[in-house]
Amino acid sequence: MPSQEIEAIRARHEAATKGPYEWLNANPYGKGTEFDCLQGPNGELMIQPFHDGAMMRTGGFCDRAADAEALAASWADRATLLDEVDRLRERNAELEAHTYCAYCGDKFPLSDPGKAKEAVAAHINQCTAHPVAALKAEIAALRRHGLPARKA
Ligand SMILES: [Zn+2]
Repeated sequence: MPSQEIEAIRARHEAATKGPYEWLNANPYGKGTEFDCLQGPNGELMIQPFHDGAMMRTGGFCDRAADAEALAASWADRATLLDEVDRLRERNAELEAHTYCAYCGDKFPLSDPGKAKEAVAAHINQCTAHPVAALKAEIAALRRHGLPARKA
């Protein structure tokens, strides 16, 4: 998910009245007829549905434009964030299921951590991309020339 998409959602969220919101039958302006409305925790009017006889249609008033924008985008924002949660959960499961060689990318299952440790250790000794392979080659070359290899 692009960072600008997350930042746009974050900006709408931070600009809106802080929740939680609650449906109440009240009058957020003080005295007067009470009506069904979605209010913020300090009585902010989030949505006042219009009543039309027996029908009620939403889309009434919102005290602040930022709240109206956040509410209008809420379904799409939730869908976007839920998709991101799914993607990150899948990625996390993948990362928790395997460890890998950082040099060649070979994967080793983590279902049995003891076996994974042994498998990685065995792999390091035979991985041609791992720096150990270059050191082994250098030691072999030194030995071929009759020079002893020493620990640094
Ligand atoms: Zn490797």
